[in-house]
Amino acid sequence: MVHFVGAGPGAPDLITLRGKKFIEEADVIIYAGSLVNPQLLNYAKKGCEIHDSSKLNLEEVIDIFKNAENNSLDVVRLHTGDPSIYGAIREQMDELEKLHIDYDVTPGVSSFCGAAAALNMEYTLPGITQSVIITRMDGRTPVPEKESIEELSKHGATMVFFLSSGDAGRLQERLIKSGVSNDTPCGVVYKATWEDEDKFTCSLKELPDKMNEHGIRKTALIIVGKSVAQSGYEKSRLYAADFSTEYRKGIDA
Ligand code: SAH
Repeated sequence: MVHFVGAGPGAPDLITLRGKKFIEEADVIIYAGSLVNPQLLNYAKKGCEIHDSSKLNLEEVIDIFKNAENNSLDVVRLHTGDPSIYGAIREQMDELEKLHIDYDVTPGVSSFCGAAAALNMEYTLPGITQSVIITRMDGRTPVPEKESIEELSKHGATMVFFLSSGDAGRLQERLIKSGVSNDTPCGVVYKATWEDEDKFTCSLKELPDKMNEHGIRKTALIIVGKSVAQSGYEKSRLYAADFSTEYRKGIDA
């Protein structure tokens, strides 16, 4: 059996209780060494076989799954953040299905949640935006035309850019070309929830320079949108005194 487990964004105590239990019980662990905090491996039992997937290709990962299954061993495939976001899990699941190896998925705290926490930020402020767009600049993996920065930025929603901190200059250029104003607030969080976390907010105009100043080129999220300023919003209806819900009767105005 293979357990896909979300490791969380970095801090080892941000894994779920279920994820931790699977690590404690695993005979074999394959972890994404480039982004998963190795401290999580301290939860593994003695004698657990540990592989770093950043040094493996897909076939080699599948071979480890196969060998483990042949020896009735339990495997944890530890992915950074939540496995459903840029986790390349589908291709592994399809191979497991072909091989009739059972698997399940344990969610994790995605880094976009870790980054919001680092910035004390609510992505969905009433009166500003009610949507978060999780996206990336194209790189080796192309982005469908309809999801280009030019298209997505039209919505004015909070945009969270994964896998894009290596070229903040191009990101800035494309956002501005798309009509996003120079003074739009941006937030950058490097290694959210890790001990060496770094973060700052700035305007879109300042973004590439600030990133250079901080020496941030990878393992960071770039958040763009009015919501980053965390001001000018309307209070939620949910907690308004005159608003009744299924659980609470509102005070008559
Ligand atoms: N599944 C992961 C994302 C994997 S893609 C998740 O849910 O978070 C890898 C990208 O995620 C990195 O290039 C970076 O943009 C972002 N990332 C991962 N961990 C991060 C962290 N702790 N802080 C900031 N960005 C992070």
